[in-house]
Amino acid sequence: MINIPKGTKDTLPQDSYKWQYVESTVRRIANYFGFREIRTPTFEYTELFLRGVGESTDIVDKEMYTFNDKGNRSISLRPEGTAGVARSYIENSLENNGLPVKMYYIGPAFRYERPQSGRLREHHQFGAELYGSPTPYADAQIISMAKMVLDTLGLQDVTLNINSIGCPKCRPNFDKAVRSYFETHIDSMCEVCKERLVKNPLRILDCKVPSCATIAEKAPSPADFLCDECASHQSQLINLLTDSNLEFKVNRHIVRGLDYYTKTVFEFVSTLIGAQGTVCGGGRYDNLTASLGGKNTPAVGFGMGLERLLMVLAASNKFTGNPPAPELFIISTNDNITKYAFRIAKKLRDLGISVETDLMNRSLKAQLKCANKINAKYVIVLGDDEMTTNVVKLKNMQTGEEISLSLADIPCEMRSLLNSHF
Ligand code: ATP
Ligand code: MG
Repeated sequence: MINIPKGTKDTLPQDSYKWQYVESTVRRIANYFGFREIRTPTFEYTELFLRGVGESTDIVDKEMYTFNDKGNRSISLRPEGTAGVARSYIENSLENNGLPVKMYYIGPAFRYERPQSGRLREHHQFGAELYGSPTPYADAQIISMAKMVLDTLGLQDVTLNINSIGCPKCRPNFDKAVRSYFETHIDSMCEVCKERLVKNPLRILDCKVPSCATIAEKAPSPADFLCDECASHQSQLINLLTDSNLEFKVNRHIVRGLDYYTKTVFEFVSTLIGAQGTVCGGGRYDNLTASLGGKNTPAVGFGMGLERLLMVLAASNKFTGNPPAPELFIISTNDNITKYAFRIAKKLRDLGISVETDLMNRSLKAQLKCANKINAKYVIVLGDDEMTTNVVKLKNMQTGEEISLSLADIPCEMRSLLNSHF
């Protein structure tokens, strides 16, 4: 038997409605905020991620699925969604549609990570990107949208952490201070962080190894290095969030794992699903389009991990979607009648009603059991008597109530019953 690849998951037919519920919720909310869906390929030229996400990030350095295709081009499965959207924004001159450009995506991301709870090699993200606005209103709108998704799904026990990591003007001073702080602690740091110290010291602040996290607690804070513009951007954002009664904590330790962030960074973290509790991460990335060869365009966005959202939903028992069930099961007691049932079923489906008929040559009892198991709302039994008298009983499986109908009236009666919730 061939097994599923390590770190990946099937979504089984009995569970896919949960995904659909989350997806339709996020689509609805994106629409409230005027975001339109963008779909980009699941693979891109590797160079996009080297330049867009950053060569010294964990994602690109260690986690990317990279291969040469038959034309000897280096291709990578996308490890995140932002770089591909930025590429598409530039390539399709989306700024011509008028600014701001507001886009969202739902799709898979691939990272060669050590699989564990909440950490997969293929996971799915709902992401949003807002291009063209440098104002803190854009940051606030993006954060409110993520928050509304979490609230609508019923996930209140999620904390919003925000921080500012500065811009190319003030960040070098912060980088320098962080580097010299960690240089004095190098002996107690993990091997990866020793390497980070050379290539990208800010990443150490993000390290999850406990000894590094303890050292990081006393590291310099970016707040002490922000230039006036970054400091004012952050205080305006804080005012906007406070004005909208959006609770948050200023957390000086979050730096986020990608190179492209400037100014605002934020995370929504749940305590219900263990160590991998970050359900959403995002921030501002004003230099991304320029670093990919496009026009300088301020932008802000987030990525939300759908598997982790579903884990929080399961852990908090907040799931309100229902598994799909047919509206009607037509039970037939012999082959001739089954043919007839097949015809009525078609008429009903043409009217937009979901109907099941027996496909397994089962006995009446077994069909009833099946109707129960799949939660059919109504059941009709078609036997010889019903065919001669032209009268059938329609049973509401929840209440047990029955009403009599003439055979010819089934489609029209069903339609009006479903409208009136009998
Ligand atoms: P983490 O700190 O958990 O590694 P990250 O900083 O790598 O997260 P992002 O690149 O910001 O994560 O991705 C956005 C969101 O996607 C995360 O907040 C998380 O919910 C989800 N996510 C990221 N990597 C994985 C993964 N390997 N498996 C499942 N979900 C993931
Ligand atoms: Mg990660």
